[in-house]
Amino acid sequence: MSKVKKIVKNIRVDADKCNGCRGCEIACSAFHAEPKYSSVNPARSRIRVLTNRLKDIWLPVFAGEYTPTECAGRDIYTIDGKEYEECAFCRAACPSRDMFKEPDSGLPLRCDMCEGEDEPLCVKWCLTNVLVYEEREVWVEEETEEMKQEELHVGLESLADKYGRDKLMDAVARMNAKD
Ligand code: SF4
Ligand code: SF4
Repeated sequence: MSKVKKIVKNIRVDADKCNGCRGCEIACSAFHAEPKYSSVNPARSRIRVLTNRLKDIWLPVFAGEYTPTECAGRDIYTIDGKEYEECAFCRAACPSRDMFKEPDSGLPLRCDMCEGEDEPLCVKWCLTNVLVYEEREVWVEEETEEMKQEELHVGLESLADKYGRDKLMDAVARMNAKD
């Protein structure tokens, strides 16, 4: 398999600085609204701030990969005297929780680093510098047609689970009729 040079984008999180303002959730959900900036709904945000006011916990987490099965991890971690459930650090959209699922379709959400923007919107609007944008160059395997097909398959399976295959096929047929 051939390799290509790629810019890897990353956002470093300094959770100790987070004050729970949720500006990042607002900016992300507005950027991803259809049409862009037409609405604000944190349930559509690809970054969520896990909050436990009594324990003074504010933990921003980015949406990562979708997983169709829930894991067995239920450990509790103590970091700097604060207790976190194992799920708190997980970036997956999974069947165990509602986080990182598009509220209307149930499709998994994933951070796309605000493709097309010079700087991710959540980074721009985090005024306390909790989120720091970084770029680095790496060599990676070129994305194959099979990988793209797998991604498409996951999305279609999720829609079929929610609405049933017949409704999904009807919707695709209607879309084709419009083209
Ligand atoms: S915008 Fe920054 S400070 Fe506000 S909740 Fe998000 S990460 Fe925390
Ligand atoms: S980088 Fe963009 S897509 Fe990702 S969480 Fe931040 S605002 Fe949302």
